[in-house]
Amino acid sequence: MKTVGVIGAGQMGAGIAQVSAQAGYRVLLSDMDLARAEAGKAGIAKQLNRLVEKEKITGDARDSALGRIEPVGDVSAFAPCDLVIEAATEREAIKRMIFENVGKVLGTDAILASNTSSIPITRLAQASPDPSRFMGVHFFNPVPVMGLIELIRGLATSDATVAAVEAFGQSLGKRIVHANDAPGFIVNRVLMPMLNEACFALGEGVATISDIDAACQLGLNHPMGPFTLADFIGLDTCLEITRVLFEGTGDPKFRPAPLLVKYVEAGWYGRKSRRGFYDYSGAEPVPTR
Ligand code: NAD
Repeated sequence: MKTVGVIGAGQMGAGIAQVSAQAGYRVLLSDMDLARAEAGKAGIAKQLNRLVEKEKITGDARDSALGRIEPVGDVSAFAPCDLVIEAATEREAIKRMIFENVGKVLGTDAILASNTSSIPITRLAQASPDPSRFMGVHFFNPVPVMGLIELIRGLATSDATVAAVEAFGQSLGKRIVHANDAPGFIVNRVLMPMLNEACFALGEGVATISDIDAACQLGLNHPMGPFTLADFIGLDTCLEITRVLFEGTGDPKFRPAPLLVKYVEAGWYGRKSRRGFYDYSGAEPVPTR
């Protein structure tokens, strides 16, 4: 594998392009238009500059990684790609349209993968040129820092496709785990019920935000408590994934906590809206309950 195409130059796509280029791949990076793809590359340059300042990489390593990333105006330039990773907005219609467009130019051996957090891989594969060469490749945010990739095979994904994408992921220095095409895959299947349960506990008056966070952080040795984490992820995103688990399994144990729904309805999404379970308008986060 030599050339990787990345579709979507937002936080995930830019991160995937960065780590791929740092691992020596040539990267074609696209977005809605050339200007956005170029803005994605400019963001990568900033990240790499920071790594040079911290003496984690050399100036030469930065320059050669950047030299391998080519922003392009649309996916018609993706014909040379061995692997294409789609990391566009989490909307099924957008992803389907992208797969149809890129499918027209991809070579007959090329693999197409989606970084979707929640859309079933088998369903998405139907919009790809060849479902046997389609799979899920779920990176974590921020991509250069997080050491995990979940690989998800659809019903028709071939063993050769899984092996090739696994080798690619390992070449980025990531630990690979394999998940079946089930709602939430592994990490969100385990994490979201915990965050949702913390919301139930808060809503039922079991304890305060600070005490639930401190209990989980110190009692479970987690790096942060569930409300701090949920505010980082975005409460709207947490609710969306919880709904995917609930609707995808039909199991009432995944029903969203009423308090989580209320916060999202209030527009209190967490850090990105400066208020979630904590208020971020001052110097230090202040619990809201
Ligand atoms: P983002 O909003 O930062 O980036 C999405 C990018 O897609 C934007 O730059 C947007 O302009 C572009 N885009 C939209 N329509 C497009 C089109 N038709 N063609 C090309 N580009 C298009 O979002 P993100 O957080 O980077 O998420 C991207 C994907 O990664 C989603 O599927 C999301 O579920 C998944 N994901 C996100 C996280 C996370 O923590 N943010 C983690 C794992 C997976």
